[in-house]
Amino acid sequence: MKTIIEPFKIKSVEPIRMTSRAERAMAIRNVHYNAFGLKSEDVMIDLLTDSGTSAMSAAQWSGIMRGDESYAGSPSYYRFEEAVHTLMPFKYIIPTHQGRAAEKILFSIVGGSGKIIPNNTHFDTTRANVEFSGAIGLDLVIEEGKDPQSEYPFKGNIDLKKLSDVLANHHDVIPLVMLTITNNSGGGQPVSMQNIRETKALCAQYGKPLFIDACRFAENAYFIKLREEGFANRTVKSIVQEMFSYADGMTMSAKKDALVNMGGWLALNDEQWAAGARNLLIITEGFPTYGGLSGRDLEAMAIGLEEVIQEDYLQYRIVSTAYVGQALTDMGIPIVRPVGGHAVYVDAKSFLPHIAPSSYPGQSLVVALYEMGGIRACEIGSVMFGKQPDGTERPAAMELVRLAIPRRVYTQSHMDYVIEVFEEISRQKDRLPGMKITWEPPMLRHFTAQFEPETF
Ligand SMILES: *Cc1c(COP(=O)(O)O)cnc(C)c1O
Repeated sequence: MKTIIEPFKIKSVEPIRMTSRAERAMAIRNVHYNAFGLKSEDVMIDLLTDSGTSAMSAAQWSGIMRGDESYAGSPSYYRFEEAVHTLMPFKYIIPTHQGRAAEKILFSIVGGSGKIIPNNTHFDTTRANVEFSGAIGLDLVIEEGKDPQSEYPFKGNIDLKKLSDVLANHHDVIPLVMLTITNNSGGGQPVSMQNIRETKALCAQYGKPLFIDACRFAENAYFIKLREEGFANRTVKSIVQEMFSYADGMTMSAKKDALVNMGGWLALNDEQWAAGARNLLIITEGFPTYGGLSGRDLEAMAIGLEEVIQEDYLQYRIVSTAYVGQALTDMGIPIVRPVGGHAVYVDAKSFLPHIAPSSYPGQSLVVALYEMGGIRACEIGSVMFGKQPDGTERPAAMELVRLAIPRRVYTQSHMDYVIEVFEEISRQKDRLPGMKITWEPPMLRHFTAQFEPETF
């Protein structure tokens, strides 16, 4: 059979409000051509992010009812702890309300001025928390990871030579080494088991703990099964267990691969760091057996962790994301290759060569996707990264538009529709206008900046 069907039936539906092109043209103009300003009810297919947008299963919803809301020692906490422990055998497991809360606590303890934190690529909240503590975040992804056209199977790998040099020269100021799996900022690209193993060996040589930013651990494990020699016959569960056997701690946003709408955790083995983390947790999040979450959230995470490593689910997840990427490639639309786990990244600079980076080709495509098809995507280019700390403007390395695919939410016919909208845009792409910024805030401008189409 060539069709890999969605491995679920739909029990409860959320209607999509159908809109006309004229309505959408008005809606996007009213929010000054910034898709973050749109009401989600005015969006037909929302590909803004895969974070917190998963559909929960019937089992998770029944877990929500079972959730025990005791302040301390809730059975829901112990079920959550057990579910994490089965995959990630760390001594101390500390729930937080989302991933960045775990990062804030971790780097408050191990960061600080003069410290250096190496990573394959820090995600933006991770970098923000590292830098907020006064430390420096180093991105050491391999060269292939920076080339959108390279078909290397593990473009999320850390460059071991660079890591080895950094450890040799700065080991006294490095509290830990991190690996982000999959590498979100690099296009959702996986890290190989061999790379994790070798990173661990280097860390051990210098007595440094290895921490995993584990948001998409299950997608990463499935890529290892598909692409790395020796793993084809292993269960995803055993691959996950091996990945974490090399780590000394982790941060997690459960809004990704725990299939819930809110949640996260910090896990670690070091007793002193754990004690410090629990102190900060009590000040900022809550008591250690709920950490900023309800008992029902812990219950839903525990069930999500079992569901996310099911291979039928992962096959559907990886194949359905690649399906969109392949269709765009077949149409001649340039994308970041190979397709990662959670999103397709369109290379807007090559797709719209008539729009200079200073006129934000990614933003132009985001606006066209919305006007033409009611699709919401996210610019990851010079709107997001072009503004320098000194106030000047410099084009970003790439002008990408990310189509992030929520887990278990859309069917193949939704994706076929997205592909058709791209066909339509392709036909008229030479007529898409550049964009100019008419207002912007001092930082993180992509969320609230206002735009206007340029006139030809
Ligand atoms: C989403 C994400 C985070 C932050 O998690 P939040 O739950 O959004 O705070 C950290 N690292 C990576 C790789 C992520 O994708």
